[in-house]
Amino acid sequence: MVKKVVIIGGGIAGIYVLRNLLARRDAVAEGLDLTLIKRERSGWVSTCGLPFALRGWYEIKRTEINEPKFFLDQGVDFRTETEVTRVSLDDKSITLVTGEELKYDYLVIATGRSPSVPDAVAETELDGVYTFNNEIDAEKIEAAMEGAKNAFVRGRGIIGLQAAVAFATRGLKTTVLGGPPSLLPSSLDPDMGDMVKKWLEEQHGIRFILERTEITAVKGEGGRVKSVVIGEGASAKELPADVVVIARGMKPNTKLAADAGIETGESGGIVTDSAMHVKMKGVRSYLHDVFSLGDCTEVIDAITHRPRLSQLASTVVVQAKVVADNILSDINAQPSLYSICEPCLSPTVAEIGGLLVGSVGVTSEMAARVGIKTMSGVATKLVKARYFPGAKPLTLKLLFEAYTHKLIGAQMVGESTVAERVNELELAIRAGMTAEEMRNTERCYDPSLSLLIDVTIDATEKAIGITPVY
Ligand SMILES: Cc1cc2nc3c(=O)[nH]c(=O)nc-3n(C[C@H](O)[C@H](O)[C@H](O)COP(=O)(O)OP(=O)(O)OC[C@H]3O[C@@H](n4cnc5c(N)ncnc54)[C@H](O)[C@@H]3O)c2cc1C
Repeated sequence: MVKKVVIIGGGIAGIYVLRNLLARRDAVAEGLDLTLIKRERSGWVSTCGLPFALRGWYEIKRTEINEPKFFLDQGVDFRTETEVTRVSLDDKSITLVTGEELKYDYLVIATGRSPSVPDAVAETELDGVYTFNNEIDAEKIEAAMEGAKNAFVRGRGIIGLQAAVAFATRGLKTTVLGGPPSLLPSSLDPDMGDMVKKWLEEQHGIRFILERTEITAVKGEGGRVKSVVIGEGASAKELPADVVVIARGMKPNTKLAADAGIETGESGGIVTDSAMHVKMKGVRSYLHDVFSLGDCTEVIDAITHRPRLSQLASTVVVQAKVVADNILSDINAQPSLYSICEPCLSPTVAEIGGLLVGSVGVTSEMAARVGIKTMSGVATKLVKARYFPGAKPLTLKLLFEAYTHKLIGAQMVGESTVAERVNELELAIRAGMTAEEMRNTERCYDPSLSLLIDVTIDATEKAIGITPVY
């Protein structure tokens, strides 16, 4: 009998489960009936490309990699501009906002996340105040930039900073509000975050307010935002703003799952096992036919072994492969197809106004929170021989567990060679490499591409108290 898979969500998570199943549907002798349901009008949009579209590098429309027709032509029941209002695990069905009920053999929950919006912003009906979550938000932000002079961004994470750079690049006077002490706190220690702040202040003229304060009022004229007020009482400040972006505190969208009795965890995300199966609240075993993945789902941190959120496209694509593997394994009763997600290291890389920022593993603060003692080394060095024109510096911070000397985190800021270093150091963490092993590792060399003694060796030696050889 044909097996019916229903996917709720058409972000990267839902789409990549669909893509994996489409690529391998021949593996199911009886056939697969695939349905995907999403709120947006689009097919598949590369959300990660939206900040660069706002900078004017290309049109927002170009981030739509596939239109709905692409999936409809492959026989997928691809439903856009609709919404699932209820999941019933008892009779294996979902209900749409239209009242239509769909049965499933396998259900995939990929409902994503939403920024947490301050009360004063939630209450406003003024135009020009938006979140930055998808292409619909990007279109509104782009329209609001027309003729605007002042921009205000709430959020000091990657999305907030990339939005700020887009505004500054388009000539808007831009202010970013975030908490202390520095930028990108979920991936960088304050000393590294300060380097990003300095760059954005000096290269892009962005102003930062890093205080424990909140937007307390949004004021406007003729239905459009004109200013925001931050703080209260005597310390309240009013700042001009023709466009406001809220990009902070991405909360997992779990209501649909929680209403169905599915368990959510301490991070706020849906709880799964390593094969991405969900479980009912208060029940120990996981459901073999219901999966959750993506930004609505909690992961286990590979270093702290605690649950947390990852909310990265790079995490999502791995989870999607695992979900597809396990649906096919279950249908075909083929245990060899069964796969699991490794605990998460969340490698990140971001281009923020010409500066490349990368990280993997834990920060000092994350390690301290769970009682892991660390030793760290920071080094700054050119990434190729100094006599080569255009040789740029890179600052690298490595964190080792103080007792075992194993690498547990890396952070870097520079103008090149960041993505490949993040991936290299992720492998080193997964391999359990110690500082001593890393110090004595051979590295490839050509003066036009690398240094004879790389910044990684310097940062490692500094962490173990050895003076690097220059
Ligand atoms: C601007 C921006 C830039 C980013 N850049 C990067 C990057 O460079 N690198 C990186 O690794 N990550 C990046 N990320 C993060 C990455 O995009 C997310 O991790 C990823 O998009 C999450 O995908 P998702 O499918 O889990 O969630 P979402 O993209 O939030 O998709 C959720 C989907 O669920 C649907 N949905 C929710 N509830 C319902 C319902 N009840 N009924 C029907 N449909 C529903 C929504 O309509 C949507 O289609 C970026 C994120 C943003 C916003």
